[in-house]
Amino acid sequence: MLKITGIETFYGKIQALKGVSLEVEQGKVVTILGANGAGKTTTMKTISGLLKPKRGTIEFLGENITGLRPDQLLRKGIALVPEGRAILSSMTVLENLEMGAYHRNDKDIKKDIEEVMARFPILKERKEQLGGTLSGGQQQMLAIARALLSKPKLILLDEPSMGLAPLIVADIFKMIREIKENGTTVLLVEQNAKQALKVADYGYVMETGKIIINGKATDLLEDTRIVEAYLGKK
Ligand code: ATP
Repeated sequence: MLKITGIETFYGKIQALKGVSLEVEQGKVVTILGANGAGKTTTMKTISGLLKPKRGTIEFLGENITGLRPDQLLRKGIALVPEGRAILSSMTVLENLEMGAYHRNDKDIKKDIEEVMARFPILKERKEQLGGTLSGGQQQMLAIARALLSKPKLILLDEPSMGLAPLIVADIFKMIREIKENGTTVLLVEQNAKQALKVADYGYVMETGKIIINGKATDLLEDTRIVEAYLGKK
C-alpha cells in the first residue's frame, strides 16, 4: 500500500534521513521503533507531506505521491496524528471532530461523527467541552478519532502513548487494534517498543536516520538486539 524508497530528508544542512526504505501492506499495523533523534518523526512528517524529501520516492497505492502537500495526501487517504496530538484546545470536542471531516462533502459526516462517539463514549459525554480541558489520554483519543473522520486508508500515529499513564496507554493500544479490525492500515511510531510490537504485524528499527533492523513483529520481540536495546527486562 505504502512504499518508500531511499528517502533523504534534511533540516537545512542537517541530514535527518539517510536513505530510508520501508513498506506497509494493506490491512496491517507496522511500527517504527528507535531511540530519540533516530528520525522516526521526520519519517512520519515526510510521508505526510509536512517535509519534502531531497531524494527518494514515496508510493501510495501504486501512485507516486512524493512531494504532495498534506491536504492533497489527506484526500488520497493518508492522515497523520502528530506527536503531541495537536487538537484544537479552544474548540469543543464536537467541533474538533467536525474539523476531521472538513474536506469531505459526502452525506455521511453526521452519521460518522455519531458512530465515532458511540465507539468512544467519553467523547460523546464531553462533546460540548473544550478540547483543551480534556485529560492527556482523552486528547489523544480525540486526535485519533478526528483523524478517523477523514476516512483514511492509512493512518500515521506518531507516539500516541507519549506521556500517558499505563492504564490509558492500554486504552490507546486497544484503540489501535480496533482501527486495524475496522480495515484501516496503521503506521505507528512508538517509544513503547514492547506494546507496539505486540499490536504490530511488522516492525522497523531506526538509528541515526537509517533503518537498521526490520522483521515480523513476533520475530523482533525475540530478537536479542531488540530485547537488549528496547525491551529491557519488562
Ligand atoms: P523523537 O522520539 O525525539 O521524536 P525521532 O526518532 O522522531 O525522535 P526526529 O525528531 O525525526 O527523531 O529527529 C531526527 C534528527 O533530526 C535528530 O537528529 C534531530 O535533532 C533532527 N531534527 C529534528 N527536527 C529538527 C529541526 N526542526 N531542525 C533541525 N534538526 C532537527
